[in-house]
Amino acid sequence: MSREKEISFQTLKPDLYASIRHRLALRRVLSSGQFILGKEVRLFEKEFAKLAGTQHAVGVANGMDALEIGMKCLGIGPGDEVVTTPNTAFATILSILRTGATPVLADIDESTGLLDPQDAERVVTRRTRAFLVVHLYGQVSRIDEWERLAQRHGVYLIEDCAQAHLAKWKGRPAGSLGIFGGFSFYPTKNLGAVGDAGALVTSSEIVVERAKMMRNYGQATRYQHELIGINSRLDEIQAAFLRVSMASLERKTLRRRAVAKMFFEGISNPLIRLLAKPGEDEQHVHHLFPVLTKHRSELILYLGQRGIRTLIHYPVPAHRQAAWQAADLPIPSLTNSESFANQVVSIPCRPGLGSKEVSRIISCLNEFRIS
Ligand SMILES: *Cc1c(COP(=O)(O)O)cnc(C)c1O
Repeated sequence: MSREKEISFQTLKPDLYASIRHRLALRRVLSSGQFILGKEVRLFEKEFAKLAGTQHAVGVANGMDALEIGMKCLGIGPGDEVVTTPNTAFATILSILRTGATPVLADIDESTGLLDPQDAERVVTRRTRAFLVVHLYGQVSRIDEWERLAQRHGVYLIEDCAQAHLAKWKGRPAGSLGIFGGFSFYPTKNLGAVGDAGALVTSSEIVVERAKMMRNYGQATRYQHELIGINSRLDEIQAAFLRVSMASLERKTLRRRAVAKMFFEGISNPLIRLLAKPGEDEQHVHHLFPVLTKHRSELILYLGQRGIRTLIHYPVPAHRQAAWQAADLPIPSLTNSESFANQVVSIPCRPGLGSKEVSRIISCLNEFRIS
């Protein structure tokens, strides 16, 4: 069995057709002589906003900045609280801290790993300004509850869409559900650049106007600084590459869904629990495919011996990070969050997986035993 071909977790090699078009895009940028916030960025913003179902997109340097900039544009800062999930990329938490606001954590729903709206309501205070919902693993869930909750408490709904390009809730794309959404185009994301890149999407005129200043030193026009801005501009090369890759995103997303469907239908082992299957209203994009098991280290070793690579998303909840303590934040008791982090492991799930590879992953999982 160790002679079988290795199934890697990620491959970033573009297919041949795409790479020719990528090369042409690169040449176009090099000969234009404009490398930051030019024509490619403007066109990318227009095209990406369309995908996200919003009026506007603002290209920025990375996904974390997109969240930070959006929150700052809403006036969120010191003294404010933003409610979010402990089970996420730590960048979500850092984006809140960078505004000067305080991240407040609630527990997750065990069936999805997503922040539980009911528990989020428990931690709302007078200082709460927003719910920052993370569409973790590409799942978009319970948005009607989030909308009701945000409305009831008069706070913003913000979306971390770093894992949810093209995901939809009742036909509405991720990014268009809250006041703004933050996307990452880190190379391993469903839509990846050839370096760091991100975008904020919104239909709010105020947010887009401020975000365009905020990413460029807070300038309204050259040398006129209206806001306390940052430097988080998008490169022309990244925008040009992303425009090429965007053309195949729909096809690749459909393939991810097909792979996930095979996993949902095929994996059946009492030692392994799957997350909730997407419901009628939900079109997930399966950025990752996590499974849960009480025997995680054994499963990782077992799959590794069979050439199947795994990763853990995420092994340590936000409130157990040293940086959380360094920020002097209280450590909440969140039992679902902790047991989830102890049991979760992601198996390979990417558009490039062939049906034979998917079948092999499924039979290995089904044959997993504990002695
Ligand atoms: C990747 C990621 C981010 C951060 O994006 P960067 O582009 O790396 O800054 C934020 N949140 C989630 C959920 C992510 O997966």
